[in-house]
Amino acid sequence: MTNDPALAFQVKASEESKPNGKEPLLGGKLHAKAVWVDESLCIGCTYCSCVATNTFGMESTHGRARVFRQDGDSTNLIQEAIDTCPVNCIEWVRFEELDELRLKLEAKSIRPLGLPPLR
Ligand code: SF4
Repeated sequence: MTNDPALAFQVKASEESKPNGKEPLLGGKLHAKAVWVDESLCIGCTYCSCVATNTFGMESTHGRARVFRQDGDSTNLIQEAIDTCPVNCIEWVRFEELDELRLKLEAKSIRPLGLPPLR
């Protein structure tokens, strides 16, 4: 029996799956929402980066927390990190909001932590 190469163009490789909201584009398998740090409010205590180590890191220029990965930790662990924040500057947002939030943050004047106030 010989295989007809033309069959490759006639037979589906697999059944197409319907979108379920958990595709990587929408936040991977762990989250339906994105997590966001308002760096203008962050006081640099590092609590969040100690709790959810695969999600939060301390940004080196301003010394404030930043989400560097959306699918690094479980939802519960990220929620725990959110709950530890003393100034409540971490929140769940829609993935579609991230670009707008980044633009708003870039428009703000954020001073590095540890420097004396401007005179
Ligand atoms: S817990 Fe809150 S204040 Fe502390 S570093 Fe994280 S985001 Fe900043």
